[in-house]
Amino acid sequence: MSKQDTPNTPTDIGQWGDTHIAPGQRGDVSITVSESYAGMDIRIPIHVRRAKQPGPTVFVTAAVHGDEINGTGAIRELIVDGVFTLTRGALVLVPVVNVLGFERHSRYLPDRRDLNRSFPGSPTGSLASRLAHAVFTQVVKRCDYGIDLHTAAVRRTNFPNVRANLKNKALADFARAFGTELIISGKAPKGSLRRAACEHGCPTLILEAGEVWKVEPTVVEYATRGVRNCLIHLGMVDGQPTEPAYVLEADKTQWVRAQHGGFLAFHVGPGDTVEKDEPIATNTSLLGHEHNTITAPRDGVVLGMTTLPSVAPGDPICHLAYAKKGSLKKIERARHNLPEESLHQRTHDQLGTNVLVSDAGEDESGEN
Ligand SMILES: [Zn+2]
Repeated sequence: MSKQDTPNTPTDIGQWGDTHIAPGQRGDVSITVSESYAGMDIRIPIHVRRAKQPGPTVFVTAAVHGDEINGTGAIRELIVDGVFTLTRGALVLVPVVNVLGFERHSRYLPDRRDLNRSFPGSPTGSLASRLAHAVFTQVVKRCDYGIDLHTAAVRRTNFPNVRANLKNKALADFARAFGTELIISGKAPKGSLRRAACEHGCPTLILEAGEVWKVEPTVVEYATRGVRNCLIHLGMVDGQPTEPAYVLEADKTQWVRAQHGGFLAFHVGPGDTVEKDEPIATNTSLLGHEHNTITAPRDGVVLGMTTLPSVAPGDPICHLAYAKKGSLKKIERARHNLPEESLHQRTHDQLGTNVLVSDAGEDESGEN
């Protein structure tokens, strides 16, 4: 264990082992999180940026699931391209948290545990638990707010949405400041970075956007815009925040599932609105003769969907965020008025390039 990684919780945001970052400076540091099978230290790189003026400290983390690298691309943009000037406080940017999963293009750690179910971790626990503990102690505990960047799981895509427990006032304000159209309220799973950080008193949201194994330009734009918006909200960056096209705060979401095996033709894409009973996909036989239509159980917005068209009974097809009664029309109007070049529309088009979206055609009988 190097001197940098004393088990005591560091409180000085400027002191990272032997490296000191003074107010007004930025610098690269790293923390040791594990050791390889060959006995070498495994470290994760971190970029720390401090404003001259004191203020809140915010972390932005990515790839807690090692294959979810859209956020890694967004953090690279934040480091390399600047995006904004920090006027108060400090920013801690961690492009890859689960470095062992990242090395294998895998969500999981080599011990097959999920790092995002292992926080806050323990210095004497499993591999996952120790890695979690190192990150929690060295990063989360130094911070006042957190943003953790995720994507959908493998074979699925998510329209950019923020998840946060809106019952927590400071967190609700922070989540709304991020500026996505879709906000899903709820407690995070036990052992997740978000939940452990919130329980520690560091309000933390996650962004769920795009797919694994990709850095998608519109997702990067949503993420960097959101970070900037949040920092403006906290008084750490000057300027005007970018407003979302509309806001849907859902506390209920549901995966619509296939009832039969077959091959899907989609009728909606990520971010589309759907009315109750509207066709989401037609499930056909391979030769296309037999088919059944899968419809929306309620009014909602397509939060996520499968990108794999072959399905078996029970396979998830489409993740809907349910809109409050009567609010869908307002959302549809807001979307209708959006220019083609708006981020929302570009994201809708880009994330939809991986699924063939067609009209429901002559069969809209909804027979199943
Ligand atoms: Zn994830």
